[in-house]
Amino acid sequence: MKKVLFIDRDGTIIIEPEDEQIDSLEKLEFYSGVITNLAKIVRETNYELVMITNQDGLGTNAFPEDTFWPAHNKMLKTLENEGVVFDDILIDSSFPEDNAPTRKPRTGLLTEYIEDDAYDLENSFVIGDRWSDVELAENMGAKSIKLSNEADKKANLVTSSWDTIYNYLCQSERKAHSKRKTKETEVEIELNLDGLGKNEIETGIGFFNHMLELFSKHSGVDLKIDIKGDLEVDTHHTIEDTGIVLGQCIKEALGSKAGIQRYGFLLPMDESLAQVAIDLSGRGELVWDAEFKREKIGDMPTEMFIHFFKSVAYNSEMTLNIQVEGQNEHHKIEAIFKAFARALKMAIVKTDSDSIPSTKGQL
Ligand SMILES: [Mg+2]
Repeated sequence: MKKVLFIDRDGTIIIEPEDEQIDSLEKLEFYSGVITNLAKIVRETNYELVMITNQDGLGTNAFPEDTFWPAHNKMLKTLENEGVVFDDILIDSSFPEDNAPTRKPRTGLLTEYIEDDAYDLENSFVIGDRWSDVELAENMGAKSIKLSNEADKKANLVTSSWDTIYNYLCQSERKAHSKRKTKETEVEIELNLDGLGKNEIETGIGFFNHMLELFSKHSGVDLKIDIKGDLEVDTHHTIEDTGIVLGQCIKEALGSKAGIQRYGFLLPMDESLAQVAIDLSGRGELVWDAEFKREKIGDMPTEMFIHFFKSVAYNSEMTLNIQVEGQNEHHKIEAIFKAFARALKMAIVKTDSDSIPSTKGQL
């Protein structure tokens, strides 16, 4: 799902003058650290950027448009030169006494974001310097960051430093939430790569639940999976679509992959030996060397294992090499899921470095 940073302009991106009106180029001055940090946020995250600003009386004699645009456009061009481009710019030009539904903290300008299910507002932020920005976040069910020296209990973060905002947004959470609905299945997955291995899994297929619980526990990834699939047909769509959405969530939560270990490999279990090697390479690929003699284990067809891992590998864009040998069919697949979990746990570990572990500079 898409996450957004809704960013205020005056007092947040640029310094707000005493008369609260930036109507000449001389008044244009950037907030300390905003350009560098927004550029890093854009490079390292998937947030969409939306500017939302109240410009009291813009277009009236009190604030003619031709005094507004030169400084505004100069600001945008300067940001653009550093790679910071806004997906949308929303300006309300009413006066406070108009009580317009479009004026912050009211949400009238943001209807399309609120009504579109593709947006994950719970994990989106409003960043601004006033109470009305914090209130806007509350009104739309988003989080808030307040640029201020004074405490504010309602805001999720209060700081006067863009460095702190960068750290908060880029180094704290590696989470994803995804929903996918087709004629065959309805899948919802929430995942936290830096979790404790907590899980709530309901696929309707007992053995598959068991394997995914093992994966969560051994990788430390918190996982919530809820699926309504066409099990009256068979298990195929349910298992494959779980793999697709799980892969998408892993990719989204990894973000830029800056500072991760990148590689992982592992592991024996009882008489079975599973070897799983992972490279979070940005290229989806599965090498599968595992044969199962039984048609089913529990209520899960063994031919679906390869489909599941292929879906995960392609959608998360990881290179995945899986081999297993052994006698007991249950142990063999359990060893694969555990080894996959442990290998992923190694690969996603964050190191002290903040660089992307590739000579190409991207993964
Ligand atoms: Mg402001």
